[in-house]
Amino acid sequence: MRAMFTHREKRYRTLSDTMKNRFGKKVFKVPLNGGFTCPNKDGTKGEGGCIYCSPSGSGDFNADYRLPLEKQYETVKKKLLKKWPDAYTMPYFQANTNTYKPVGALRKLFEEALTLDENIVGLSVATRCDALSEEKIDLLDELNDRTYIQLELGLQTVNPRTAALINRGHDLKCFDDAVGKLRKRGIDVVVHIINGLPFENEDDMLRTIEHLNSLDIQGLKIHMLHVMKHTPLEDMYQEGIFKLLTRAEYVDITVKQIERLNPDVVLHRLTGDAPKETLIAPAWTAKKFVVMNEIDKLLRKKDTYQGIYHG
Ligand code: SF4
Repeated sequence: MRAMFTHREKRYRTLSDTMKNRFGKKVFKVPLNGGFTCPNKDGTKGEGGCIYCSPSGSGDFNADYRLPLEKQYETVKKKLLKKWPDAYTMPYFQANTNTYKPVGALRKLFEEALTLDENIVGLSVATRCDALSEEKIDLLDELNDRTYIQLELGLQTVNPRTAALINRGHDLKCFDDAVGKLRKRGIDVVVHIINGLPFENEDDMLRTIEHLNSLDIQGLKIHMLHVMKHTPLEDMYQEGIFKLLTRAEYVDITVKQIERLNPDVVLHRLTGDAPKETLIAPAWTAKKFVVMNEIDKLLRKKDTYQGIYHG
């Protein structure tokens, strides 16, 4: 029997519907830059960062961290309210590793973000598994009692060879343990994965989904690998060491992942976007809505949906 995914013709669980069901109306995220760095760049956990990470820490649309949070928030909110005048908002700390400060500084920052506006219904924080000490999880737990906390955790792949190649700087156990600790406190976990990493094949990407199905996660963001200017990945790409996925390949693999994914997991993203000025390849990712439409079209053509092959 076909699963119930109500967002128009979508055949997967959308973030938009999930938030509307939870809060009663549209919720949009407001990216904020808290001036974080990353332990995988500064030598604490690794040097140089993940090979695809842009100088902005994969937060290319984020505001200047030197601007007060209030100013960052108002600028983005003003733009988004034109599109959704009656929406709630959720501050979103995205760039770099957003739990990589002492717990006192995190408390101050998160508390400030949560009081920027009375329309705020929660907080979204993107981080790494190795930047989540017990006391930081205690803080998130305490905030989660008062509001809604969504913790985004990068995984990218379960293949240890790929993880070493892309210089992730943590292993799968670190990721799994972090998911377990967050779920023990009832904090929602949204995982990031990347399709098209160098030398990965379809089996690798499907294995990543199978592993996630074995964990208690609430959301997933699927990205295509972006080759950005001034990254080690750019050098590898220019040397022709690996091939990027075509749009058709990406769509095909992503649909297969959706078919295998636990139907309870909310799909927050099915493709990423990057600023045109710093994106080297693949050019097709710039047309995000075309990619989304192609995914929808293929799901309809195959008459399939999220979780059809799960369990
Ligand atoms: S963990 Fe995130 S911020 Fe840190 S190097 Fe990797 S992609 Fe960049």
